[in-house]
Amino acid sequence: MRILVVEDEVGIADSLDRGLTADGFAVDVARNGVDGLWMAQNNPYAAIVLDIMLPGLNGFLVARQLRDDEIWTPILMLTAKDGELDEAEALETGADDYLRKPFSYVVLLARLRALIRRSGNTPVTDVLQVADVILDVNLRRVERAGESVEMSPRAVAVLEFLIRNVDRVVTKDEILRNVWDHAFEGDPNIVEVYVSRIRSVIDTGRSRALIETVRGVGYRLRSSQ
Ligand code: CA
Repeated sequence: MRILVVEDEVGIADSLDRGLTADGFAVDVARNGVDGLWMAQNNPYAAIVLDIMLPGLNGFLVARQLRDDEIWTPILMLTAKDGELDEAEALETGADDYLRKPFSYVVLLARLRALIRRSGNTPVTDVLQVADVILDVNLRRVERAGESVEMSPRAVAVLEFLIRNVDRVVTKDEILRNVWDHAFEGDPNIVEVYVSRIRSVIDTGRSRALIETVRGVGYRLRSSQ
């Protein structure tokens, strides 16, 4: 799932980028309101973390413009300490929730996940299952046949995307757009590396593989063997 962080303070933006990436999200960062608005209008984000005080266009104006454009991506707005008026205005301009600075990363993550769950953008289930493979979306934990398996956060994100699109053929491009961030300029074949890693975990020893390669198109995860 992709998250947009719109924040001009480099320290906060970088720590959110690192933290959310480690938690399995694909993160784009915009350092001003104009870029933030453009990116939010043109990409399928699961949620937006939006600061109020921004160069170019402030967070209130970004939120209002998105809602005027009928873009309903959940927005978590970052407000200043003692900014009760800001908080009221945040909700009035279309933010779904707010968090007062300085905030704890753990609280931000919990609020963000709650927003994503509540939005219609993703299914409400936190535990996804295909055959004997279980993915706990919140804990980012994968089990096969009751045994916990080690996977990198990026591999877990690819697996999550495949499970959410079970029985549908997904292209490498779709996987890239949803799991990698906007700044990714490497080789799209990186997707193959992750899919083969996931296969080695979930398909080893099966008579019929769950992950099917659809030649020239992409991959399909089957709901049953
Ligand atoms: Ca700021």
